[in-house]
Amino acid sequence: MTRCLVVADIHSNLVALDAVLDETSGSGGVDEIWVLGDVVGYGPDPSECIDRLREYRCVCVAGNHDLGVVGSVDLAAFNPDAAQACLWTRGVLGSTDLAFLRSLPLRKDRGPFLLVHGSPREPAWEYIVSATQARDALQGVGQARHVFVGHTHVSALFAVGDDGRVLAQPVHDGMVVGLGKSRFLINPGAVGQPRDGDPRAAYAVLDDVVGTISFHRVEYDVDRVSTTIRARGLPAWLGSRLHLGY
Ligand code: ZN
Repeated sequence: MTRCLVVADIHSNLVALDAVLDETSGSGGVDEIWVLGDVVGYGPDPSECIDRLREYRCVCVAGNHDLGVVGSVDLAAFNPDAAQACLWTRGVLGSTDLAFLRSLPLRKDRGPFLLVHGSPREPAWEYIVSATQARDALQGVGQARHVFVGHTHVSALFAVGDDGRVLAQPVHDGMVVGLGKSRFLINPGAVGQPRDGDPRAAYAVLDDVVGTISFHRVEYDVDRVSTTIRARGLPAWLGSRLHLGY
């Protein structure tokens, strides 16, 4: 493995996912794709997104929406729009797609990297937003040196030095960080429903040979996706919020 695309929170947004895949294949391609959960939920194209992950043989963990769709967690834990979208998704997916979602593990080790959706201690639910949480997350992961998470829908990078100090580094499009001696907790941001005010799809590329992680944003046709969301009978807000990057 040399170059690896790392994505999270695709949320049935095929147009955004394809924009990410097109951009990465146009910039040298990648050897592996890691998906940090929430493949489905919210968006209009769940089956097509699952197809894409199978086509690319992605390494994937489960997110809370994936678990909600297959009934492994109670939909009462979701906000009403999210629960409605989970029920809609359950109704349109075939048995093979549902089996794919059921097969997803909560955590996956990949060399020195641990992949989870939320956090190592609460893979489906915990939002890591603070340096303290990031340090705690890195302390409880056994063999793994670095942790990739999604779930917040906001790109983030926390570096923990040998002295235990944690640095939260602001992330921007095109930023490249050397993995060096620190341990990192990395959130690539969301492909299908970013929540940092920037509607562009977010992703990260890990170069395991050079030892860098880079952060990227790519535009996609938000109008098309929000129109499809309404046409499918999903809550209109789920389309509107894509324009806001929220
Ligand atoms: Zn999500």
